[in-house]
Amino acid sequence: MNRFVFLDRDGTLVRDTGYPHRREDYELLPGVIEGLQALTDAGFRFAIVTNQSGIGRGLFDEAAFHAFNALLLADLEAAGIEISGSFYCPHSPDDGCRCRKPLPGLFERAARVLGADLANSWAVGDGARDVEAGLAAGCCGALRVGSADCPDLLQAARHILADPNHA
Ligand SMILES: [Mg+2]
Ligand SMILES: [Zn+2]
Repeated sequence: MNRFVFLDRDGTLVRDTGYPHRREDYELLPGVIEGLQALTDAGFRFAIVTNQSGIGRGLFDEAAFHAFNALLLADLEAAGIEISGSFYCPHSPDDGCRCRKPLPGLFERAARVLGADLANSWAVGDGARDVEAGLAAGCCGALRVGSADCPDLLQAARHILADPNHA
């Protein structure tokens, strides 16, 4: 089984400073390393699925996106955590694309590229649109971090591991 946890990035893995893209914006959130390690041990793989309308709005370019994302990937790799792929929507809300969450296009692309078994995969994000997109793509469960019962990724991991086949 190729089970994934599809991870939103900003506000879920790193602090959402408002279109974070510069080195000084970068801050890994508490519980991320521990949560992803626990999920790795349970056999889950990971993909980042992130709306990056800052690109479409002209706030930063794709090179800046990749440079910022590389800071995150390096920190995770140093902790023994592998991200199988990073998928982003560069469009602005007016572009009418199919990849901007809450639409499921980004999840579908990630699943196709990585061979993910969507029906046995989860979505985790800090926004309602992350949950909506994950469920629309056919994930078996979706969790929102930043709430009282699920403050961070470690708690999200605990929820998933308590009920991994959630239907
Ligand atoms: Mg977010
Ligand atoms: Zn898009």
